[in-house]
Amino acid sequence: MHLLKKQAYINGQWVNSNTSAIFPITNPVNDNVIAEIPDMDAIDAKTAIDVAAETFKTWGFTTAKYRAQVLRKWFNLCESNTDEIAKIITSESGKPLQEAKGEVAYGNSFLEWFADSARHINGEIVPSPWPNKQILVTRQPVGVVSVITPWNFPFAMITRKVGALMAAGCTCVIKPSEDTPLSALAAAKLAEEAGVPPGVINVITTSRKNAISVGKVMCEDPHVACISFTGSTQVGKLLYAQASTGLKKVALELGGNAPFIVFPSADIEHAVDQAMLAKFRNNGQACIGANRFLIHEDIYDKFVEAFKAKINKKCILGDGSKEGVTCGPLVNLMQVQKVSGLVDDAVNKGAKALLGGKIALELGNKFYESTLLVNVKPDMNIYKEEIFGPVAVCLKFKDEEEVLKVANNTRSGLASYVFTRDLGQAFRMSRKLEFGMVAINDGILSAAEPPFGGIKESGIGREGSLHGAEEYTDLKYTLMSGL
Ligand code: ADP
Repeated sequence: MHLLKKQAYINGQWVNSNTSAIFPITNPVNDNVIAEIPDMDAIDAKTAIDVAAETFKTWGFTTAKYRAQVLRKWFNLCESNTDEIAKIITSESGKPLQEAKGEVAYGNSFLEWFADSARHINGEIVPSPWPNKQILVTRQPVGVVSVITPWNFPFAMITRKVGALMAAGCTCVIKPSEDTPLSALAAAKLAEEAGVPPGVINVITTSRKNAISVGKVMCEDPHVACISFTGSTQVGKLLYAQASTGLKKVALELGGNAPFIVFPSADIEHAVDQAMLAKFRNNGQACIGANRFLIHEDIYDKFVEAFKAKINKKCILGDGSKEGVTCGPLVNLMQVQKVSGLVDDAVNKGAKALLGGKIALELGNKFYESTLLVNVKPDMNIYKEEIFGPVAVCLKFKDEEEVLKVANNTRSGLASYVFTRDLGQAFRMSRKLEFGMVAINDGILSAAEPPFGGIKESGIGREGSLHGAEEYTDLKYTLMSGL
């Protein structure tokens, strides 16, 4: 396992914390320690930021062609090391191996995409209102980006951000989640092998205890130009507030509360297949995961019955490194408590679990049964909150107007899903759903090519697509006078 690194990565060196402190990374299946790695603090964060700032002086002026070549090499190496990266992802996140391989392919697609996009971050020449003058608009890299990532896609969240910012000409300091830093270190190791110059990518590892002080430096240090964060809305707001003291740019991908709406004209079998993907991928631990299944009353019973049969057949809970397992443990005990708290509250208030509804203690303390809940009412916490676990909640609606009202009645606005064969309805829903992303007749919508992101409290900015690279640039206006 040459990618299993046990040190942080600053200025092209594998290093320990200035205090030599360490913390353990464990496998959620059995709490076995996989590695002990540096528990870095604010001083280490400052060191890494200074390195990134120094490196920006050269990297920021490299050609787009060169950056594209470097990204392409990194992509090639990540692709040929898919199996080893996937094993690391599975061991620290609990995600089944097959899904981990899917995550690597997805993560790699961003490196490939941004290798291609680097050479298309164009400027403009705008017709001038004055004779003998010309207006040039160029896109310049913002500088040092602080990257803070979560545990649910520990590899892809790195490549999606770092691919984009490198294409733009920025350098970065990455603070991966305390639960899953080994995937980030593996990505950094391959970047080193690919010839990414020292200092362009720096990875500092911290326990949860140090996240607050490290996060503060990453937001407030004057060398930092932008904070790129994926995680909870609560932490996102905190970082936004810290970034505001220096008027820093932010790119925030926060929580969702995705509705999955099925109209009577839909192909029910297809909708159920897509529901499985939208709900149970990564065991429900995805910000674009379907959080509320809103099913038209005419087809409600049929949908619920088919969904129940599919969950029963397809969700095989267990150790994700074993063949045939499709749902692993939740990542940590906090998540288990959150999910079981939501389900218990709903059941106590009258909801019914047609499947699951409890921790599968015979497997371990982090395995939550794949659950299907009906009779859910607005007074239950699960009606409003992001579940982030393997619990499907089904609700009935009568018509388009009602479902739009229910679907939009949330401060989140990330992904949404609609199943209909009525073309007019598809367009109306696309326009009226207050979400950054709408999938019509599909349960999976993310890729490198489209812009990924939310509105309302789901975030600011977009990732992927050319817009994703542009997030890390500033527009510069140069007036050429006296021509
Ligand atoms: P999740 O529920 O996905 O763990 P969090 O928002 O808690 O979501 O965590 C996402 C990332 O944010 C992790 O890398 C975590 O360490 C980091 N984080 C949490 N609190 C802070 C903070 N106060 N400052 C900076 N980073 C933080």
